[in-house]
Amino acid sequence: MSRFPTTTHTPLLWEYAPSRESTDIVEIEDRYGLFIDGEFREPKSGKWFDTVNPATEEKLATVAEAGPKDVDDAVKAARAAFEGPWGRMSPSERAKHVFRIARMIQERSRELAVLEVLDGGKPIKEARDVDLPLVAAHFFYYAGWADKLEYAFPGAKPKPLGVAGQVIPWNFPLLMLAWKVAPALAAGNTVVLKPAETTPLSALLFAQIAAEAGLPPGVVNVVTGAGETGQLVVTHPGVDKVAFTGSTAVGKLIRSQVAGTGKKLTLELGGKAANIIFEDAPLDQAVEGVINGIFFNQGHVCCAGSRLLVEESIHDRFVDKVKRRLQTLRVGDPLDKNTDVGAINSRQQLEKIEELVESGVAEGAEMYQPDCPLPAKGFWFRPTLFTGVSQSHRIAQEEIFGPVLSILTFRTPEEAVEKANNTPYGLSAGVWTSKGSRILWMADRMKAGVVWANTYNKFDPTSPFGGYKESGFGREGGRHGLLPYLDWSE
Ligand code: NAD
Repeated sequence: MSRFPTTTHTPLLWEYAPSRESTDIVEIEDRYGLFIDGEFREPKSGKWFDTVNPATEEKLATVAEAGPKDVDDAVKAARAAFEGPWGRMSPSERAKHVFRIARMIQERSRELAVLEVLDGGKPIKEARDVDLPLVAAHFFYYAGWADKLEYAFPGAKPKPLGVAGQVIPWNFPLLMLAWKVAPALAAGNTVVLKPAETTPLSALLFAQIAAEAGLPPGVVNVVTGAGETGQLVVTHPGVDKVAFTGSTAVGKLIRSQVAGTGKKLTLELGGKAANIIFEDAPLDQAVEGVINGIFFNQGHVCCAGSRLLVEESIHDRFVDKVKRRLQTLRVGDPLDKNTDVGAINSRQQLEKIEELVESGVAEGAEMYQPDCPLPAKGFWFRPTLFTGVSQSHRIAQEEIFGPVLSILTFRTPEEAVEKANNTPYGLSAGVWTSKGSRILWMADRMKAGVVWANTYNKFDPTSPFGGYKESGFGREGGRHGLLPYLDWSE
């Protein structure tokens, strides 16, 4: 239960009847080995760890922890596949494999969505309607480029790089896998993937799907484990390209470790996005964009609109509307199709959110939380907003990565730009106004990889995504997403 005081609200006139997605479609094994060279293997490290359901704290499975010998085996298998069957395969045959994976993901999307919910805590309606369709779309999209690389980059004849070492976080386990694996395969590389330690299960099911799709052994290898395993992957001398999505602190460490090795590197790191509301914006629509921007996936979103900048003249009216909408969010069982806000991914992440929220209260910002009931077991945090936030508050500066919105005001477009850019990050931003010219003026000045206008958190595989400043470098998605997986030397 939250340790914070709550504000009472007018109760809903009626409640939704429970609508729980069945878990029968998923068969979770007791133990999972490492997926190396086309088969599941016992770890040579002899080490294992548990993965739990964050909504119930129940153990789901025991998973292998890859050590140095295991990662070495995975990299060698990936190299052999690159120099062997995968490297020799024609691009059009390679495209068919990637396309087949996309089809199988679609066919098994309900199973994958339920597994994602059980292991990660996100609401089923998001896993089912957002994550899985986007995962399949990425594989379809990149399958299309596999035999058309000379059209993607006219005049160039790029070659694959070799073995890609990829490390991903827990907030969108399958989607982050798709962002990395699909372009790597389409460009002709092989992969050693390290999923996050709290959400390894969907990557392991993906490995099975890839094998059933007929990928030659060694093309995709999945090594599970925590940060130490990730470090083994990125520092392995047999890896040609490192792709990392995760925190800025770990990204900085990886950059220093990779420096001077000749490995290619892309980093997709944290964010502290501004969602900017002008007084002429369609306010009710903007409220939905604000809610979606920060409470989607419990706020575990790198590009979450975690700082709301509201034009001073509409502050009180707009904040009232957001508070009213907050009261209608349903927090709880992520398997219930009515749930809007699911479980926090781990106890560690919950403690981080609580600590930052306490700092917001201590530094003098005013907290508001709806009085929604929370389940007795599991990791939960009420949707929260802070008013009276100033630029120097930690909740305005640091990435909370939880369902917490910090509200600030501005008087002029210049001040909005100044405040939006006043952060070490630069991943995304949102602008809400009915003036098209103002959208363009703002987008030109905002130091963010993505600027959404009168919408938020919209994704498409054809569109590149990535950061400025401490949000990292390199782009994923679109033709740009192929660039880091190709060798441009003659
Ligand atoms: P994290 O950096 O702690 O972990 C990310 C991954 O890196 C995990 O698989 C972890 O095991 C591994 N790892 C940890 N230490 C490592 C090391 N020393 N060497 C190699 N690998 C290591 O981040 P997290 O808390 O799991 O994820 C949340 C972060 O990810 C947030 O900051 C979020 O903004 C960011 N993120 C960014 C994007 C993006 O596209 N920019 C997308 C999703 C998440």
